[in-house]
Amino acid sequence: MLEAMVSARVGDDVYEDDPTVKELEALGAEMVGKEASLFVPSGTFGNQLAILTHTRRGDEVIVPESNHIVEHEVGAMAVISGVQLRTLRDDRGRVAIEDLERLYREEDIHHPRTGLICMENAHSSGSVVPLENLEEVYQFARSKGVPVHLDGARIFNAACHLRVGAPEIAQYADSVMFCLSKGLCAPVGSLLAGSKEFIKKARKMRKLMGGGMRQVGYLAAAGLVALKVMPQKLEEDHRKAQTLARQLSRVEGIEVFFDRLDINMVFFRVRRESFSDADFLQFLLQRGIKINPPMKGEYRLVTHYWISYPAIEHTASSIAEFMEKAQGGDGTKSL
Ligand SMILES: *Cc1c(COP(=O)(O)O)cnc(C)c1O
Repeated sequence: MLEAMVSARVGDDVYEDDPTVKELEALGAEMVGKEASLFVPSGTFGNQLAILTHTRRGDEVIVPESNHIVEHEVGAMAVISGVQLRTLRDDRGRVAIEDLERLYREEDIHHPRTGLICMENAHSSGSVVPLENLEEVYQFARSKGVPVHLDGARIFNAACHLRVGAPEIAQYADSVMFCLSKGLCAPVGSLLAGSKEFIKKARKMRKLMGGGMRQVGYLAAAGLVALKVMPQKLEEDHRKAQTLARQLSRVEGIEVFFDRLDINMVFFRVRRESFSDADFLQFLLQRGIKINPPMKGEYRLVTHYWISYPAIEHTASSIAEFMEKAQGGDGTKSL
């Protein structure tokens, strides 16, 4: 990947003059079954650019309440697009069509216009949303003439889990964002894909947002390696997560959420008696394992290309060692 970056052919992409960016955008579009795509600096940028391009100020955007766009994008849609967010209750990114029908706004002098519906797959809970759910949301949206945007940051993980091509997922959305970073291992970048007309408009909006980049082929070259080489390797990441989950589940005091083990993420809870989260984090850090503090009481571990099986063993055994010390047992659940 680094070699590809160093030897990339570049031009000024603001003038659509960078051959490596063009190649990446063409390949990215093809890989999700859309007409065109646009290179953006991050996944958040891609989602927000999609919202800005699809909507008008004062529109309402319906998004499942646990989605990245609601939880982790700093309220950007209010600031950048001037739209109102309407959250939809969800179960790991899955929604009930009756809830969506209830939130949709028919024309009325008091109502904002429903300007966009967003879905996410794979969902950041570690779970993959079934195609049927995406399909029913899309059918409903179409019947009302409302576009659908898919946050597909990890669409290739979802495709791998469902054993379908990414276009089979993206067909249920008018636009889709996916990351070249994260599991696909590029240092920077995401793509926003959709129809030619949508991407033309998004290109101008990207400039407005300060995302028009010059000799960005150096980054696109990494993205090309990410797209050509990495999707086939995601299955291995998923197997590694399952291995880690199995090992952790044998540790007394650790509860692994097996209902959310569809991709490369392992969510677990630690039964705490005589120690704090900070003790746990500090112990792991001393063993070379750096993890985030828990969110809503849950820890998350993520496997990827650079996480080896020995590293997984080391992680599981370090957690077992901590729990054993904390609980004064041998750390293993009696069978
Ligand atoms: C990571 C992520 C994003 C945003 O990507 P960044 O590049 O970190 O901005 C968006 N959606 C989901 C589901 C993600 O996991």
